[in-house]
Amino acid sequence: MDIEKIKEANRHLNDVEQKSGTLFLRSKPRNVSLDLIGKCSLACTHCGVHVHGLTSGTEMSDDTYELIVSELFPTTEVCSLGGGNYGEVTLAKKFHRVVNDCERNGISISLTTNGTIVNSSWLSDLVRNVSVVGFSLEGMESEYEKIRGFKWSSYLKNIEKVIGERERQGRSFPVEWRYCAHSDSISQLPDMIRRAKSMNIDRVRVMPFFPYVQSQKYKQLFYHRSAANSVFSESRAVARELGVEVSIPADFSTGTFELNQCEKAKEVTSHSGQCTVVMKKCEKPWKNMTLNELGDIRACHILWRRMGRAYGRAGRSVHGVWNSLPYLLLRATVNRCSSNLCYRCRQPSFEGESSTANTSLLPGRKEILQSFFTPRPKVSYIDCPA
Ligand code: SF4
Repeated sequence: MDIEKIKEANRHLNDVEQKSGTLFLRSKPRNVSLDLIGKCSLACTHCGVHVHGLTSGTEMSDDTYELIVSELFPTTEVCSLGGGNYGEVTLAKKFHRVVNDCERNGISISLTTNGTIVNSSWLSDLVRNVSVVGFSLEGMESEYEKIRGFKWSSYLKNIEKVIGERERQGRSFPVEWRYCAHSDSISQLPDMIRRAKSMNIDRVRVMPFFPYVQSQKYKQLFYHRSAANSVFSESRAVARELGVEVSIPADFSTGTFELNQCEKAKEVTSHSGQCTVVMKKCEKPWKNMTLNELGDIRACHILWRRMGRAYGRAGRSVHGVWNSLPYLLLRATVNRCSSNLCYRCRQPSFEGESSTANTSLLPGRKEILQSFFTPRPKVSYIDCPA
């Protein structure tokens, strides 16, 4: 059977199994995320690596990689490279190889990179087959260099190489900036959008910064609400005027002095515990598999619990892990009685002081115990729109 027919048959079966909530799947993962290496080319000052350390200083072994290619690639539709551990995927010796293997298997690539490495040996092959490239940053110019310790001008040159090759090949995939916004650089956002326009960067995604250490706590926009809101509204206007796509979090609440709100507060309190939260069903446990350089398999980038190891002492295959007990339990609970992490993943709050980003690495027992004692509203799970 040719590769497209294999993928089509798997897609069809997977849709049926996911919609019916089947636990033991005959279909295979459709989206695979690979973190090929544990090392990074930078040591950004805000990164959790300073607290949690690297998952490893190594690359994925040939055995594990070949297992993934033979077991997963025939049915994979999108391969996300990078962004799931503290490593920089373009640093991996296997980076060019995975780009070519994706092309051979009809898989489109979604790349997340810090933009420090753009190598002419793989650039053209990557651009031919990529569906989105996201470059991370925390600010521009000296704000960028302060955190990243890398030259802003070199970073821009690397982005220009990707955009230049995209033009040369006549491709139109989006290139985006993924800006981790904090109080020192938020005032640069309107200029960042202007710069994006001038460089043919298609989108700017704004994500609030959440610290791993106490000393960075007050860099969160959470503590600079009015200032952040005013930059957000200026930035939305600049983006509209220039036709640059932006995604900016909803404005922060700054409270009110209106007296009638006191009456409303009484009503809410007297009905507490009875409200219902509506959440979209999560499809990831049916469609997604994330593997790091050690062959550790997780269901998504947020859920820290390991589902198994692709090629460890147990010698279990990737497909064995896909239908292992942790995966079955996740499928059984995620859209019925979510764990705390899965609940917070779908109810993100930029108002709070914690995030799914830094809870994702907390020790398991604490999180599980918390879920028993944290009161939550009743949840109604709804299907995602097709
Ligand atoms: S954390 Fe849970 S709800 Fe969120 S994407 Fe992962 S499996 Fe789905």
